[in-house]
Order: sequence, then structure tokens, then C-alpha cells
Amino acid sequence: MELYLHIPFCVRKCKYCDFLSFPMENETMGAYGNALLRDVKKASAQYSEEKITSIFFGGGTPSLLPAEAIPTLLSSIRDGFVLTNDCEVTVECNPGTLTEEKLQAFYAAGVNRISMGVQSADDGELRTLGRIHTFAEAVENFHLARKVGFDNISVDVMMALPGQTPASYKETLERIIALAPEHISAYDLIVEEGTCFYDWYEREPEAFPTEECSCEMYRMTQRELTKAGYEQYEISNYAKPGRRSRHNYGYWSNVPYLGLGLGASSYIGNRRFRNTDDLKQYLQGNLYIEDTILSERDMQEEFFILGLRRREGITEDAFVKRFSADTYSVYEKVLCEKEKQGLVEKTKGGYRLSEEGILLSNTVFVALMDAEKENKEKM
Ligand code: SF4
Repeated sequence: MELYLHIPFCVRKCKYCDFLSFPMENETMGAYGNALLRDVKKASAQYSEEKITSIFFGGGTPSLLPAEAIPTLLSSIRDGFVLTNDCEVTVECNPGTLTEEKLQAFYAAGVNRISMGVQSADDGELRTLGRIHTFAEAVENFHLARKVGFDNISVDVMMALPGQTPASYKETLERIIALAPEHISAYDLIVEEGTCFYDWYEREPEAFPTEECSCEMYRMTQRELTKAGYEQYEISNYAKPGRRSRHNYGYWSNVPYLGLGLGASSYIGNRRFRNTDDLKQYLQGNLYIEDTILSERDMQEEFFILGLRRREGITEDAFVKRFSADTYSVYEKVLCEKEKQGLVEKTKGGYRLSEEGILLSNTVFVALMDAEKENKEKM
């Protein structure tokens, strides 16, 4: 099982962000840390038999917490859960909130992976995004993490930003590659409702790159990162050999996960549940859980949609091992059709998205969902 802990605090809200995060005073952060400790203890009693293969402190900005917070939480997790020897422990960090003292505290506590939100090497683009740091600060933080001893660092970059050009994006990629992180996540900007960018897009859509331009940046990412020795193992994720993110790979491979903290989601057995996103309620211990019981068909659909995000795709064997053989053919029919359209390709024992299919992945996913619906109706 994987463990996710949500830290919903940031210095200020970035202009494109719709994650559950907000600026907060130290006092509330302290109370939140205690509430998380309470939940770690409660959950460890309930899931004491489970082996934890990865732990991910995400947010928000976990590196905004005081230096001792993550080590305290980790020590409580170790007391209550059984961790595998090679358990991956990641902390999401944002440049501008890191100090050597914090990094040393993480390292000494057994954090073995840092995920850093760098986003762009262009300070103008960083300002447009509303980030709190410059690229020089990000580079400084990156080297600080190396100096402290971290040999597994992931860097996030963003493409299709307003004002970004293929040339400026190429420079970002080159400067990130020069840092030689073990892992790079390259995401397309998604303009989400409720964000400053959403209002901007409504007013001035021409300020944002065209779809053609974002496809060009996507292809450039694949080309440049592959050339630099990174393997694309998921639609947006690239890793040096042996450095895939175990935690995220688990999400796409149907590994159960337990989410602790405000608004955190869990997926265990056939249950998907989510904690409240009301901070006051959460601090008082009223987790109010939104619970969904997934049917066999829902889980099969997820098997395909999540599995096809991975570059290796899905295999019939893995499906049949988990479900029954007879329903595989329902989805296979859709995949064969998409193969004819050039969006999917056959692999040894299964299917994966083609290069074209990666760019049009939603078309394939929607067709799989429709097939699943049709199948349900027939039953
Ligand atoms: S740092 Fe990340 S979580 Fe925080 S506001 Fe910016 S994008 Fe959102």
C-alpha cells in the first residue's frame, strides 16, 4: 500500500492553481501537523498489516512546514506502519521555501526523494505563473539538495504557458537537463475554472499558446529528454534508468493507496474515499468521508484508463489475473478500432498508446468509457 499525506499550505496562491492549498499562519500549520499525527495513529491501527511501499508528502508546499514537522510525521508513520526496506519517501518542495536546515532534517529522517516545482527557467514566465521564486533560486535549492546528499531529485516543468514560445520552452528544457535531475515531470498547463488564469483565458484566449504550439512543445519534450537519456514511462513523466517514481507509478498500476490529511483521497479494495476539504472540520476530527464503492466494471475501466497512461500500456495477462477473461474482449474491440485509427499499437501481450495516441489520449479513454457503459446497459 502507498501512503499520501496532504499539506495544504503555500506562501501564496499561484495564478493557475486549483489544488487544495492556501496561505496560512504558523499557528494553524501547527494545529494541522497535530491533526495529521492523530490520523497517522488512527490509520496505522486500522492498516497495521499493510506493507507501505512509498510515502509521498504532497501539497500545497510541504517544505513550507517547520524543519521538524516532516521528521515527526515520518517517525510516527514508522512507529505505526510496516515499511518495506526500500520504501520511497518523497517530499514535494518549492524553491523559495527550502533551507539547508530543512533539507538536512528531511535527509536525516529518511526522506530519499525530493520533488521540486521549478516550472520554467524563464523568470518572466515564473512571474506570469505567480510563482514565488526565480530560476536562479530554484537552481540554488537544487544544488543545496545535492549537497545535503539527495541523489534522487525530480523536477516539474510546465509547457503551453501564456507568453511561452517553443524557443523559450526549449531553453527551459536545456537548463533543466543541465541540472541532471533523476526524474522530470513535464505538464501541459490546464486552465482550470476558478483560477486567475481562467478569467484571463475568458478575456484573452489569444494570450495562450495554440493547440498546435502545445503539441510542438510536447513533441520537443519527448525528443529532448529522450536524447538526454530519460525514458518516457508515462504521458508526462520521464526518468533516468531505475528512477521512475514508484509512488506515481503505483497510481497508474492500481496499487492501493491511503490518503491522510485535508481533502486526501484513498483507494483501497473496491472503495474510493475522500476526506473533508473543510479545514475547520478537519482540525476538529470530523473527517466526513465521501465514499464510493466501485463495481467490478468501474475497476476494469480504471485498469485500462490508468494503465494506458504508462508507456508500456496494459497486458491481457494482468487484466485476466485480476478480473475475468470474458470482459477483456469488450475493451479489446475498442482498442482494435483505435489501432486502425493509429491511436493505439499492439505490444507483446497487450496494447499501448501510439505517439499520436498520447496526444489524443482522451479520445481513447472516452471510447473505453463508452464501451464500458454499453456493456453495462446490456447486462
Ligand atoms: S505552489 Fe503548487 S500548490 Fe501551491 S499554489 Fe502554487 S501550484 Fe498551487
